[in-house]
Amino acid sequence: MRYISTRGEAPALGFEDVLLTGLATDGGLYVPESLPHFSVEEIRSWRGLSYAELAYKVMYPFVEDAIPADDFRKMLNETYSVFSHQAVAPLVQLDTNEWVMELFRGPTLAFKDFALQLLGRLLDYVLEKRKQHVVIMGATSGDTGSAAIEGCRRCEHVDIFILHPYQRVSEVQRRQMTTVQGDNIHNIAVKGNFDDCQRMVKESFGNQSFLGGKTQLAAVNSINWARIMAQIVYYFQASLALGGPDRSMAFSVPTGNFGDIFAGYLAKKMGLPISQLVIATNRNDILHRFMSGNKYEQHQLEHTLSPSMDIMVSSNFERLLFDLHGRDGAAVKDLLERAAKGPVSIEDYRWKHARKLFDSDAVDDKTTCDTIRDIYEKNEYLLDPHTAIGVRAARNCRRDGTVPMITLGTAHPAKFPDAIAESGLVVKPQLPAHMADLFEREERYTVLDNSVSEVQGFIAKHWKNA
Ligand SMILES: *Cc1c(COP(=O)(O)O)cnc(C)c1O
Repeated sequence: MRYISTRGEAPALGFEDVLLTGLATDGGLYVPESLPHFSVEEIRSWRGLSYAELAYKVMYPFVEDAIPADDFRKMLNETYSVFSHQAVAPLVQLDTNEWVMELFRGPTLAFKDFALQLLGRLLDYVLEKRKQHVVIMGATSGDTGSAAIEGCRRCEHVDIFILHPYQRVSEVQRRQMTTVQGDNIHNIAVKGNFDDCQRMVKESFGNQSFLGGKTQLAAVNSINWARIMAQIVYYFQASLALGGPDRSMAFSVPTGNFGDIFAGYLAKKMGLPISQLVIATNRNDILHRFMSGNKYEQHQLEHTLSPSMDIMVSSNFERLLFDLHGRDGAAVKDLLERAAKGPVSIEDYRWKHARKLFDSDAVDDKTTCDTIRDIYEKNEYLLDPHTAIGVRAARNCRRDGTVPMITLGTAHPAKFPDAIAESGLVVKPQLPAHMADLFEREERYTVLDNSVSEVQGFIAKHWKNA
């Protein structure tokens, strides 16, 4: 399978190169040139498969040029055996025909483990084959950093440096990063804010001379195609568990960078019967404003109780815009260059098509808390604030009560105790038993000044073969 850029100018690449590349050289994102399509009969024949086996069926067409079948199977078995539930992505019923898919049974208790546990293994596999080494450099305000570190802890050919803003991430989130031991794992606390961290990463990617040409940087942010690919699988898993593909499903997805819900859109294009996809946002609602009024406009960032969805623009939305524009890279390039300067709209018929594909809703902090409280009082089930936004949006946007509605449960409630407290509940969310000693584990991180040369100097000195 070949991958092409959403801006139409960068060269097409194979899977291995797409895995190791972040942005395309023209500033676009890579997408498959064409998608595999599965018939209803074929999908039906997957009933009863384990998660890892299903993952193999869904993903193999994307990687087959790069990885032999048996190696990929083995990788998937390892990847999903570290999850703390036999079903990997279990469903919990909330109400008649309404469900939450718990995607937080991985090592860092958020859905990002599904992709990053696999990404680490894929990277190491390809690097071993090529006899190469990479340095992963990333900035995090929480979930991505810990999932990336966990995903890379056993990689031989990868050093990972994660920058977080000193004293500005929650203690659970910090400890999930800093208590992972490994010679290739480096946590840097920058005396600045998240934007400072991100700026340093961007600058370093732009000029990698500080590495002396001996290794290269790689990115694990949500624009990496392999992450999207891994997220397609659980849509199939949920459908098969509830009678699909012989009935259609609806999904509601707590959305930030549009990666997770874009995977649902791809599942549908690959043949899975999905009749509704709900984009659920918090007050950072650029996507909801676009879907309801055909105006794509950046607003000031708002800090909410659902910090993993606090974004100003959704980077993966570019991948949808590419399809909405008939895969015309020049049109996407033009649109996004204009969008960087001010509000933009797309042609009415294209926007109407988008509205057929997606519903949307924006949920504020108060309604998030009300939802957490309501579900707990009725079901004794605790939602994390991101999932609560999904559940609320699902209920507000539901079109057909006979179609099962599945909200993606993106994080474990113990990761976000502030929102639970804010909702007025006295119950305290408990960390799962395998993490109960998180607060006793030894932490390792380095505090550095808010200076790119200091950070780059640290990386140059501390990667494996430096
Ligand atoms: C990253 C994240 C999201 C947003 O996912 P996107 O793929 O960026 O849309 C939602 N909830 C949680 C808990 C997350 O960590």
